[in-house]
Amino acid sequence: MAFGDHDELLRAACFSALDRLRSRFGDELPKQNGLDAGFAFDGARVPFLNWQKGIFRAARQTGPAALSVMTSASSPYEADGVSEDDGYWYAYRKGESGRRDNDALRAAHLLQTPLVYFLSVAPGYFEALYPMYVEDDDPHAQRVHLAPGAIRLGEAVPLVDGNVARVFARLFRLAGDAREQSWPLAARHLPKVRAGEFNEALMELGALVCTPRNPRCGACPLQAACDGKDAPEQFPERKVRAARPLLAWDAYALLRKDGAVLLEQRKGEKLFGGLWELPRAKPPGVRLQGPLEKSGVVEQTLTHREVRVTVHSARASGEAREGFRWVVPEGLVKLGLSSLTRKTLRAAQVRLTSRAP
Ligand code: SF4
Repeated sequence: MAFGDHDELLRAACFSALDRLRSRFGDELPKQNGLDAGFAFDGARVPFLNWQKGIFRAARQTGPAALSVMTSASSPYEADGVSEDDGYWYAYRKGESGRRDNDALRAAHLLQTPLVYFLSVAPGYFEALYPMYVEDDDPHAQRVHLAPGAIRLGEAVPLVDGNVARVFARLFRLAGDAREQSWPLAARHLPKVRAGEFNEALMELGALVCTPRNPRCGACPLQAACDGKDAPEQFPERKVRAARPLLAWDAYALLRKDGAVLLEQRKGEKLFGGLWELPRAKPPGVRLQGPLEKSGVVEQTLTHREVRVTVHSARASGEAREGFRWVVPEGLVKLGLSSLTRKTLRAAQVRLTSRAP
């Protein structure tokens, strides 16, 4: 059995076991007497996830791609769980010890294999989102973007990673963004049978023969058809990264005597739409009970822009009108908060915790 077949069966067993757990418990799956039992596959129990590390590739798998990722309520990773454009950012694991896990995450992107995203919704409870796909890999920002999709097990799909894009860029002397132009080329050249092996062969050619420096054109099976073999290192062309526009605003951390903080739900705009964040102006109905003081400046790089938020804090009281909500610290983890909002809350010394004090 090829690793693709074996791992597809294992993933199918995982999804079907989660279907059964959801029909028993609903959307919030308990760790205890639920997820911690794992699922049955090929006569053995396989864990759904790794409770410590977040990124999980099961020992029973033969392929390289992660089976699941998890964000706990106390995740130290800023990029985790940021809901944006119908998906979630998920941070690479930090440090040398996380390299193998990050490779598994990136393999899920390259191979476009479906995985499960376990999202902590309360202490000991997780929502299982599946099938999710790693639709974007951003090594520069050390994170991937997860998006929901349909099961595509066994489907013949083209695959373009950096190695494949380099091969196509040289074969066809592509000017401009090689990765973008390689997708239609990969689709056009994809054979109807053994598509997976074709994809793997192209990736290997890029990794072992058509290397970034000193490609071995003399040993390349595509040499006769290659337009770029006379000057391979000129391809792919270097990208000039466009400057990201800066968005800047003030945010107000208004804190009630009982520790609750006032949040506002962003209207249905694309950036942060639907998410809860600190208000950008003092809302009507709320009275300041002390001086407004600057707490800090929070900066974050998003895919297409830089964001800078100046955070001000003050004691306050009053009613939360429509679109606003007073939230106690233990309620914050249950809301859809972007990492930017979590940073602004921390700048205002607001505790983010899943437990009551
Ligand atoms: S001939 Fe050289 S440049 Fe062209 S694909 Fe092969 S290794 Fe790459």
